[in-house]
Amino acid sequence: MSDYEFLDEMDRVAVQLEAESGHSLAQVQQDDDWSAIATWDVIREAVGEDVTIGSHTADHIRLGHVSEGVARDQLIRSKQDIEENTHEPCWCVCYPNGSYAEAPLRLARECAYACGLTTEEGLNSVGDDIMRLKRLNLPIDVTSSELLTAVSGLSKCVSQVKRKMKELLAIVGRAPGRQDLCMSGSLTREPEPFLPSVLAE
Ligand SMILES: [Zn+2]
Repeated sequence: MSDYEFLDEMDRVAVQLEAESGHSLAQVQQDDDWSAIATWDVIREAVGEDVTIGSHTADHIRLGHVSEGVARDQLIRSKQDIEENTHEPCWCVCYPNGSYAEAPLRLARECAYACGLTTEEGLNSVGDDIMRLKRLNLPIDVTSSELLTAVSGLSKCVSQVKRKMKELLAIVGRAPGRQDLCMSGSLTREPEPFLPSVLAE
């Protein structure tokens, strides 16, 4: 089933639900904070120094599964809608369902997007393709220093060091010399692990 067929099917289901329940889905959504769709007024209010609105295509179409003509139309219409309604440039696209391929990446560039976001998790390095940026999922209750630690790569670096330390400790624990010492009673207690406290769990 293509994405357009899927959207048609969703429309058909929505009409059926409204007919059977006697309620408009738009109203149900509007009354529910969790599923309500942001209006342009709400979006305009949010846009500013810290918030940029990026594109997710006009109809949430998986760009890697459609023709170049459809992909181009989706990228252009979404960008135009956002720019007309926010009066701010829309320079970033996030590929729906993480779906992209060679053509969508080129088309996004041609449609004047400055960067593209995938659903791949990770940090980006200098020299990576700016149209295929990886992302990090961050909990909403982090402090600014925790956020900085995560996006700078420091927390990843610390996790790697911790993992290496644990591997080393496991090897040291298995070393015959140390076992012999413990069993012969030469050591009265286990040696202190050399894992710095800041790295310990
Ligand atoms: Zn999406």
